[in-house]
Amino acid sequence: MLSVPDYEFWFVTGSQHLYGEEQLKSVAKDAQDIADKLNASGKLPYKVVFKDVMTTADGITKFMKEVNYNDKVAGVITWMHTFSPAKNWIRGTELLQKPLLHLATQYLNNIPYDTIDFDYMNLNQSAHGDREYAYINARLQKNNKIVYGYWGDAEVQDEIARWEDVAVAYNESFKVKVARFGDTMRNVAVTEGDKVQAQIQMGWTVDYYGIGDLVKEINAVNDADVDKEYADLESRYEMVQGDNDAETYKHSVRVQLQQYLGIKHFLEKGGYTAFTTNFEDLYGMEQLPGLAAQLLIRDGYGFGAEGDWKTAALGRVMKIMSHNKQTAFMEDYTLDLRKGHEAILGSHMLEVDPSIASDKPRVEVHPLDIGGKADPARLVFTGSEGDAIDVTVSDFRDDFKMIGYEVAAHKPEAETPNLPVAKQLWTPKAGLKNGALAWMQAGGGHHTMLSFALTLEQMEDFATMVNMNKAFIK
Ligand code: MN
Repeated sequence: MLSVPDYEFWFVTGSQHLYGEEQLKSVAKDAQDIADKLNASGKLPYKVVFKDVMTTADGITKFMKEVNYNDKVAGVITWMHTFSPAKNWIRGTELLQKPLLHLATQYLNNIPYDTIDFDYMNLNQSAHGDREYAYINARLQKNNKIVYGYWGDAEVQDEIARWEDVAVAYNESFKVKVARFGDTMRNVAVTEGDKVQAQIQMGWTVDYYGIGDLVKEINAVNDADVDKEYADLESRYEMVQGDNDAETYKHSVRVQLQQYLGIKHFLEKGGYTAFTTNFEDLYGMEQLPGLAAQLLIRDGYGFGAEGDWKTAALGRVMKIMSHNKQTAFMEDYTLDLRKGHEAILGSHMLEVDPSIASDKPRVEVHPLDIGGKADPARLVFTGSEGDAIDVTVSDFRDDFKMIGYEVAAHKPEAETPNLPVAKQLWTPKAGLKNGALAWMQAGGGHHTMLSFALTLEQMEDFATMVNMNKAFIK
């Protein structure tokens, strides 16, 4: 997997000096305890670091500036242990340029009827302190997340964990660089978009390269490296020669491995973490990149076919969010419209992510009736079963819009002997008819990211962080 820095989240709790030093010490102790136990829960993908009790506008402003400046910090988690007059938070919160999670919780999860007194009430004012604080975030339109509930509950810890992954993906989104080998497939509309706006809003850099630059890199790959990759392939996957003679099979696979290494070198040199291809633009390449693209996707690179840079960048973001688990580039391929069987069969010409495989992928070589190139090697496998989400991003000129729904994923009912590609079946939870209808009415395209590892709420949170329009079909 392409690496992601080991981020941390800074945690502060709000209070004020009205209650005296003794109370402030208790506030700090309780907040430290929450941070320690959240870290010890084993649920959080990134560490929470308790920084301080925030009592003044100057202190809060200084803290937020430090958050912005420190590359190690992915975001801020706040909690109001006591009442914390929210005018103190205005300047600092306005300056904050990273994701903000307001943890609306209380140190104890019960009301201690027998012992409760005014000292307890002075110290434990989250019930109204968190509302005062939430008001100012709403008024400042911070697009922050609020997680509500007892911090010791597994459910609340899971919510924090999922948000951390989104917040890290947001930080990393501003580092996503897409290399486009070839432009958009001719005349296709939905894969187009405003790259300048995408960079402003999501931080995605999208650069075009003529195919000749890539071919040069592919031709420079040495045989010994291809040998090594071939051995690695044999150790991971099933090598299925099929109707090909041994030499043709091996040659076809080696061509893909050479492309894999060539594209990888090219991306590494330029600092790219995602790429697109276009089967109309392959001059000097022997095969369309099939297995080559699949291995790069496996390694954590975002990918979009036919020049689809939006899905390539979204794919990279979602791979960061999911820790590169069960998250795949997809295309709505063909439909089962029979009553009781309603489903979409998802696939692509070749470039399907093996992270969703439920069986051991097979390396196969077959002809491809498009593109006019030699028979490409590809990984063939069956997708998985379970709850998943499917999302896409379209550009409507005035704004990007994320469209998505939850799906029930399953395996195809039967083999497709004459369609040797990786396949995944799914049905929108809203129903095929209602789901597909709403998707099309919202203007969602055919290229999507399917994930078993992420939730729709996480994608909504990401869309909120980057101020993108949303059409989530429930
Ligand atoms: Mn396509």
